[in-house]
Amino acid sequence: MTETIADPVETIACEECDLLLRLPEVPPGAKARCPRCGYTLMSSSSDPLNRPLALAIAAAITFIVAHTTPLMGLSAVGRHASTTIAGGALEMWRTGEQLTAVIIAFCAGIAPGGYILFMLTVLIAVRRPPAPQWVGEMLRWGRAIKPWSMNEVMILGILVALIKIAELATVEAGIGMYAVGALMVLLTAISITVDPREAWKRIAWADEQ
Ligand SMILES: [Zn+2]
Repeated sequence: MTETIADPVETIACEECDLLLRLPEVPPGAKARCPRCGYTLMSSSSDPLNRPLALAIAAAITFIVAHTTPLMGLSAVGRHASTTIAGGALEMWRTGEQLTAVIIAFCAGIAPGGYILFMLTVLIAVRRPPAPQWVGEMLRWGRAIKPWSMNEVMILGILVALIKIAELATVEAGIGMYAVGALMVLLTAISITVDPREAWKRIAWADEQ
């Protein structure tokens, strides 16, 4: 059995009462509470690797569906047209709304796609510790890109587009729209279940060998 280098015991301050504490190793499924005020300092997921991996795979499939099926369809005077997320962004770019187009492309495409890709890579790589150091780098990128993926900006953009089109034609939500909804739930679920500390423990640091 290979033993990886564990984190040094972490000193943290309780978010509720500012008591300084040295956080011990928390066994899977257990919680660490502040001895003074009872605030939950940390809860360790009972399945910190398999559950987020399953969710990440589901998110990757949903992401592909969300981007390849029509987000919305519209009918006007006997004609039917539909658009995907990329198609919508491209149309906004063409009609002079470049900023909105860039925001939608980034928040609905690049950011969630990157997040899913990074998390998949990390979760697969840490299954057989010690994982190489670049996995830690990827974990950081995932954390940096997460707030940008599928946030309110994107939903707002889609709503604005829908309202504009609804003035001209009958709009019906496509499969892509439902996939976007499901993807938002999945992305949130990954960030809840994934335990970066568990992944960090499995990453070998080149300078410590
Ligand atoms: Zn406390």
